Amino acid sequence: VPDILVVGSLAYDEVQTPFERRKDVLGGAASYFSVAASLYSKVHVVGVVGDDFQDSDIQRLGRRGIDTTGIEHRSGRSFRWFGRYDYDMSTAETLNTDLGVFGEWRPEVPDALRDAPFVFLANIHPEIQLDVLRQVRAPTLVAMDSMNYWMEHSRAAVAEVIKKAHVVSINEAEARQFAQTFSIIRAAREILALGPMALVVKRGEHGAMLFLRDGGIFWTPAYPLEKVQDPTGAGDAFAGGFVGHLSVTGRCDEDELRRAVVHGVVCGSFAVEGFSIDGLEAATPDAIDARYRALRAIVAVGADSVAGAGPIPGR
Ligand code: AMP
Repeated sequence: VPDILVVGSLAYDEVQTPFERRKDVLGGAASYFSVAASLYSKVHVVGVVGDDFQDSDIQRLGRRGIDTTGIEHRSGRSFRWFGRYDYDMSTAETLNTDLGVFGEWRPEVPDALRDAPFVFLANIHPEIQLDVLRQVRAPTLVAMDSMNYWMEHSRAAVAEVIKKAHVVSINEAEARQFAQTFSIIRAAREILALGPMALVVKRGEHGAMLFLRDGGIFWTPAYPLEKVQDPTGAGDAFAGGFVGHLSVTGRCDEDELRRAVVHGVVCGSFAVEGFSIDGLEAATPDAIDARYRALRAIVAVGADSVAGAGPIPGR
């Protein structure tokens, strides 16, 4: 099965929800992505950590078969993020970001990883994403994420990354912000006009939408959950399931992309069931499969109806 390369943050997060608060939990876009994608394929992480980073957390990723040799160790503090959620458990309000060693880091993709066929550029400075794209050699599929901060401060560079990626995976608010419009449909058209084959618009508990350059549209709700403990990392887990599924099938036609979106939503559902990567760690390929089938049943409408086939049954 083809390998996946992810470049992104490895972090210690502090997370506050209306119900609970946790400190110093393993986070970072690359952590969430790699744990989700490791349910599908071999994953290689390129990232940076400081000397406060626990070996046990590197081993935690390693135990899942994730290649952690591309993680650089530098003296200084690891990236730290503090975010808060309201009762909707949806969009995080960033209370503090401490870049630490992540701030000055310029990733150097190890030579052996430059041929990875699947590449995920997690949320990071867009100039760094471009730098990574200059280092890899002809990947089959490049997917990228970004965030509001870069769209506001480095819009032209974000546009460059979008131009060079095959798949753009951003949330609803980011799509609106990037295209400076209320309409997601219009934002999708404008983003796809830059060149990517597909755009995924993540909508939290409302699921995800897929827009294709050739006009195709697909839309799924999220997997219905009663218990959401921590929404952090849902988007990166989504990307892990999405890219993971495509890496297994090796296909990128519309049906496969639709299935990949459902896999993404399923991985996101596991991520939000626990703090940190706990929820994702509890997921198994069988559990992924069961939720995939359940979600497919929710989206399906069955065969076309036959007009006048019979009376509506009484109660
Ligand atoms: P998500 O909830 O999918 O948007 O991802 C949340 C993760 O992204 C958290 O674990 C954070 O550590 C990480 N994160 C937050 N802000 C940044 C940033 N500016 N750059 C890179 N990673 C970030």
